[in-house]
Amino acid sequence: MTSPGATGFTGSSARTLTRAAMATLAVEAAIWFWLGVYLDPRDPVPPVALALGAFSMLGLVLVYLLAYRPMARGDFAGARTPTIVFAGLSLLLANPLSALLLALAHHELGSPELDPRPRPPSFPPTPLAPTVGICPICTRPNPPSTPFCRSCGYALH
Ligand SMILES: [Zn+2]
Repeated sequence: MTSPGATGFTGSSARTLTRAAMATLAVEAAIWFWLGVYLDPRDPVPPVALALGAFSMLGLVLVYLLAYRPMARGDFAGARTPTIVFAGLSLLLANPLSALLLALAHHELGSPELDPRPRPPSFPPTPLAPTVGICPICTRPNPPSTPFCRSCGYALH
């Protein structure tokens, strides 16, 4: 499947929502095309229906390329703007379900755990820990609390 990003956030719920939105766009396109083909050609509706079907298909492809694929790659920040743009376009296509699903996906992508800013404090302690136990005489690593080097007996503290 997919590997989690550095933050541990896999975006799986956002991907699921986007997949569902793409499914509604596919269904919508099928309904529009069906109406365009089967309605009386003298009606003014069929050309409009076919056009809406084409736009729904286009929307489906664009959502896949610009929102779903970046998510699958782990580029959640890059997928954030397309999801809300296509949520708005879905409303124009009279597809409130797709709009809702994409808006929820956008919300998922905007969750704080994705934001890189509030999470720097995990780094600083790690570089110090190994150097404490390194013996200056024989360079063997020792646990930080060990008073004497376990290899040569040098007083570490
Ligand atoms: Zn030593």
